Amino acid sequence: MPGIAVVTGASSGIGAATARQLAEAGFPVVLGARRLDRLAKLAAETGGTAVSLDVTDQASVDAFATAVRETASKLGQGVNVLVNNAGGARGADPVDKADVADWQWMYEVNVIGVVRVTKALVPDLEASGQGHIVVVSSTAGHIVYEGGGGYTAAKHGTTAVAETLRLELSGRPIRVSEIAPGMVRTDEFAVNRFDGDAEAAAKVYEGVANPLTAEDVADCIAWTVTRPAHVDIDLLVVRPLAQA
Ligand code: NDP
Repeated sequence: MPGIAVVTGASSGIGAATARQLAEAGFPVVLGARRLDRLAKLAAETGGTAVSLDVTDQASVDAFATAVRETASKLGQGVNVLVNNAGGARGADPVDKADVADWQWMYEVNVIGVVRVTKALVPDLEASGQGHIVVVSSTAGHIVYEGGGGYTAAKHGTTAVAETLRLELSGRPIRVSEIAPGMVRTDEFAVNRFDGDAEAAAKVYEGVANPLTAEDVADCIAWTVTRPAHVDIDLLVVRPLAQA
């Protein structure tokens, strides 16, 4: 049996789909997010462990890491995989009309959140002898677009963290893989971006036929972490066919 796989932002969308696929691949999964009710259902379905996690709160991250360690020790397993997936977007204002609070939140959750959880779990990933950190960035971590300044700035930060980690962990037994999806139709991402405005959210998907599904991205993540130990996937960009 492989060691534990930890998935942040596992209460919906890409994170939930990833947890399902990793559980199917045989990993005992630890699921982190703020909505424990949803995590509890997914834990029952996958045989995993649900643990409350707010990546913007250091005390919550510390308690989460402790729970991961307790689960690992109970199962007699190491911690093999960390999928840093928790993240999100808020707003679509141009830079000169930016809502600074939204920008701060996006930086906190998409960049500092990845740093906090990674920092807490690197010792465990290293101790397992076969650690793997997956960072879910976005094509928004590689391009910019109008109205997306806050999100693209944050996701460029996510990409920078992943690339820096790869350099700094070189020579140690931890692979680092960045997964950069294009447009994915998940239930909540766009709705949250527009503060619950379903109509504005639906417009995001206009013009791109067949956006990716959460399962498409989860498939890429599951494939990445199940390559033989010497195979190191650096960056995987995945877009819907209709997205340039
Ligand atoms: P969802 O909104 O469905 O999922 C976001 C997840 O992040 C939820 O599980 C949410 O859980 C969690 N989350 C948000 N804030 C926090 C926090 N402070 N602490 C812990 N968990 C948190 O969106 P997606 O599944 O679409 O997005 C997942 C990742 O994929 C994100 O990083 C996103 O930026 C990225 N992405 C999405 C794309 C898309 O088009 N949908 C495209 C490219 C990348 P909870 O609210 O319960 O805490």
